[in-house]
Amino acid sequence: MSKYILNQNKQDSKSGENYELHNEETCHHLPDPENRLFVGYFDNCHDAKARAKERYPLMSSDIDGCYHCCNSCHNE
Ligand SMILES: [Zn+2]
Repeated sequence: MSKYILNQNKQDSKSGENYELHNEETCHHLPDPENRLFVGYFDNCHDAKARAKERYPLMSSDIDGCYHCCNSCHNE
């Protein structure tokens, strides 16, 4: 299980601006601590992404996995 967090600041990406989901234990591109929103502990980024959308419904349509640490959940 790894701890997942969401960047509360929107980041630019090819598909527009997104709130990026990160694996806090493996990612080398984490936002500053004050910009991290706690998501939870999960075995994979798919579960973490689903939980992030439930937990932060106002941000849900713009949540995307980080290219570096959550590549299989990354939409571009
Ligand atoms: Zn990341």
